[in-house]
Amino acid sequence: MAYIEPAPIKDRENPFESMMSRFDIAAQKLGLDQETYEVLKSPTKQVIVSLPITMDDGSKRVFEGYRVIHSNTLGPSKGGVRFAPDVHLDEVKALAAWMTWKCAVVDIPYGGAKGGIKCKPWTMSTGELERLTRAYTVSMYEIFGPDTDIPAPDMGTGPREMAWLMDEYSKANGKTVSAVVTGKPLVLGGSLGRVEATGRGVMVSALVAMEKLKINPAHATCAVQGFGNVGSNAASLLEERGVKVVAISDHTGAYYDAKGIDIRSAIAYKESNNNTLEGFTGGEIINNADLLELDIDLLVPAAKEDVITLANADNIKAKLIVEGANGPMGAKADPVIFEKGITVVPDILANAGGVTVSYFEWVQNRLGYKWTRERVNRRSDRIMKEAFERVYKVAQKYDVSLRIAAYMVAISKVADTYKLRGGY
Ligand code: GLU
Repeated sequence: MAYIEPAPIKDRENPFESMMSRFDIAAQKLGLDQETYEVLKSPTKQVIVSLPITMDDGSKRVFEGYRVIHSNTLGPSKGGVRFAPDVHLDEVKALAAWMTWKCAVVDIPYGGAKGGIKCKPWTMSTGELERLTRAYTVSMYEIFGPDTDIPAPDMGTGPREMAWLMDEYSKANGKTVSAVVTGKPLVLGGSLGRVEATGRGVMVSALVAMEKLKINPAHATCAVQGFGNVGSNAASLLEERGVKVVAISDHTGAYYDAKGIDIRSAIAYKESNNNTLEGFTGGEIINNADLLELDIDLLVPAAKEDVITLANADNIKAKLIVEGANGPMGAKADPVIFEKGITVVPDILANAGGVTVSYFEWVQNRLGYKWTRERVNRRSDRIMKEAFERVYKVAQKYDVSLRIAAYMVAISKVADTYKLRGGY
């Protein structure tokens, strides 16, 4: 997994406030009424649990787990579960809200949620992680459900954790409930194409944006920060389309080669090297901060929140930023980047390919039928392109950034639905 140190605390923004400041601009542009504004900004439910786990040495440790449901206006809430040491309530709240906007931007019938457990998964054994995931599932039994709240992988989790979650939930139900979680292993009802889906959506968004900016992918250079599921798949799919990926990175550092990194060999290296790029010789070593400031066409931050902040925004030289991670740019950096004329395809659009294929997985589970990879890719590519065009049109019409336009598309969809459904 790609755990990259976040920016120093002094440069970091509270992620929920960062989300809200964009929300406020978009709501104002839309002329959203005060009552709907209050409803949309308030998370529906916030749950914090303590999970006492027996460690391999026999000792007990208590972990803190979270699940925030931001909205279920458009349908059951959807969003991943993150295992990371810096998980905290405001982060989970922001991530849950981003899921609401993300699902609305790509027009899939889900609300938004997010979960997390404060832990260092790379220091834990498989058994410890399994007990932790199962304990979390039991404690969230009343929340999770195929018609209520559907978790998925996020940073520090993957198909293995989703299998445990599905199994534990199913045991409590007395029957297999595949549709309670997405991102499962294929044999347990996972979807073809789900693993690559977020990276693929990043690639599709990048290509559509390059077309608008008249950048020829065959002559474009790119740097990808983060080499986990999103970064490595985005890098490899961009490379396949002719983009020269000159730098990649993970928590061990960044690797640069002006002639282009061989992404396939980087992935093979990582897989044979305990999932890290440490010791990779396919590029000169630079640091993660320098990677962001390279003179390139396309920058894909695909690691963490808040890596582009007021402290480094002015040094960014890329023409196009496609946000693979959730919240990689703090709100205070937005105007600096906008003034510099850098186009940003925002997270809630750029990385929506993952939840889109999660939706396909859930649909397949409920149908009891499997789609081909070709069908999954074709439909998710189409959804990503249509969402991009919707956002692009609003950006042009209101003369705002793609980020604000994406929030406007999302907020108006949720607001209209809320008004139709009505409240108390
Ligand atoms: N964790 C992913 C995201 O942030 C996927 C969520 C999902 O598939 O539900 O978009």
